[in-house]
Amino acid sequence: MGLDPHPLLPHVVMISFPGQGHVNPLLRLAKRVAAKGVLITFTTTSDVGHQIISSSDVVPDDDGIPVGSGRLRFEFLDTNWDPSNGQKPDLDDSMRHLETVGPAAFSDLIRKQSHAGRQVTYVVNNPFVPWAVDVATDMGIPCAVLWVQSCSVFSTYYHYHHSLAEFPTETNPDISVSLPGIPTMTPEEIPSFLLPSNPYKSLTKAILEQFCNIDKASKVFVNSFTELEPDVIDTIAKYVHLIPVGPLVEPKDESQSTLRGDLIKATDNCLEWLDTQAPKSVIYISLGSIVTFTKEEMAEMAHELTTNGKPFLWVVRPDCRELLPQGFIEEVKGRGMVVGWSPQDSVLNHGSVGCFLTHCGWNSVLETLTAGVPVIAYPQWGDQVTDAKFLVDIYKVGVRLKAPVERNALHAAIEAVMDGPDAEAIKEHATKWKEAAKMAVAKDGSSDRNIQSFVDEVKKRLA
Ligand code: UDP
Repeated sequence: MGLDPHPLLPHVVMISFPGQGHVNPLLRLAKRVAAKGVLITFTTTSDVGHQIISSSDVVPDDDGIPVGSGRLRFEFLDTNWDPSNGQKPDLDDSMRHLETVGPAAFSDLIRKQSHAGRQVTYVVNNPFVPWAVDVATDMGIPCAVLWVQSCSVFSTYYHYHHSLAEFPTETNPDISVSLPGIPTMTPEEIPSFLLPSNPYKSLTKAILEQFCNIDKASKVFVNSFTELEPDVIDTIAKYVHLIPVGPLVEPKDESQSTLRGDLIKATDNCLEWLDTQAPKSVIYISLGSIVTFTKEEMAEMAHELTTNGKPFLWVVRPDCRELLPQGFIEEVKGRGMVVGWSPQDSVLNHGSVGCFLTHCGWNSVLETLTAGVPVIAYPQWGDQVTDAKFLVDIYKVGVRLKAPVERNALHAAIEAVMDGPDAEAIKEHATKWKEAAKMAVAKDGSSDRNIQSFVDEVKKRLA
């Protein structure tokens, strides 16, 4: 990439772990900060970086993409990830590899910026690349962290890591967890990686390792908003001052001109299909970028969607496509659409979508709250189970569906959020959160002010 045409812009490098749920919020923060007159270099591993570019119709030129009065550039880490079998590396492998080669590749990238006349003013990283804070600190550059899950989940992990509360153990597996500012959580409601029975020990280790050097970060941003989680933001402040900058959803004014960050190319024509459907009539189904239905669950889903009669848009990622029952797509043609990846943010904001069957990943939670779409909460693991509790019991925007999904239970859940006696109340709650979410990121809203103070600080550093 060539010399920057705006040498006087302050320059923030944002580094993301190469996962969809991490790239999306950091890239959206990048767009918001760039729109306020800051130059951003967005980086992640080169394999995922190239996926982002090739899944998009927007190809950045040498100077990046103009966003508001700033600019957003992409420059990827030379991490030489080339799995010889051509398979997607598993999470453990890629984390270990990144930990080994990431720090040197990242310091090279920062050094290159100075040589190109784009001195780095600030670094922002997200979870699973905690070494970025060490690299920045060693180079004398301040570094902020963007936490990409809820404040409640942050507080839960924090308390666990520092042994500040009692959690279920092998000898005492059934105890509930009471934390300040958070409603009591049963073992099924705490992030599943903290359960004694959790089989993903290395993932738990990676999550908790982030708390080892979090004190080195100059700030901890969080993809949430003050009005959504006021009590926990208040109570955890005793240990860590969380700065809400969310909900980080696709900024509407920039979405036409900047790339979205999809790792899989989205089927954009599903929006045209949605145009042909009645208002609030469509069931949207997506389990995000990692979790899947089993073949049996797919069959139950397909059965209910075939007999139910309501229109639906179902995201079945390419890696799960073969699990769909034979002949299903032909059978539902016209009334149902199956896509490999959707432009989810736009789908949820489309007037014809009436409910969202979601795995409750935190990005999906914030996107549905911002769009005011009621949910059928179908969490699988990790923080999703905690998010589901909040969606259903605290925000009151939907109902829970128990795993494994079964046709009658699914039928009842669809009925409950779309037509049942509680559907109106659920829709009213959803509309209330939609307004609160929009206000938080609107000019001078609570999160917008926090982003503005960061931008002011970054600009002052340049002066
Ligand atoms: N997403 C999308 N299209 C899809 C499915 C998901 O754009 O078909 C996006 C979704 O909008 C969200 C992200 O992928 O921003 C998934 O993040 P989330 O935290 O919800 O779940 P994860 O994939 O991390 O489990």
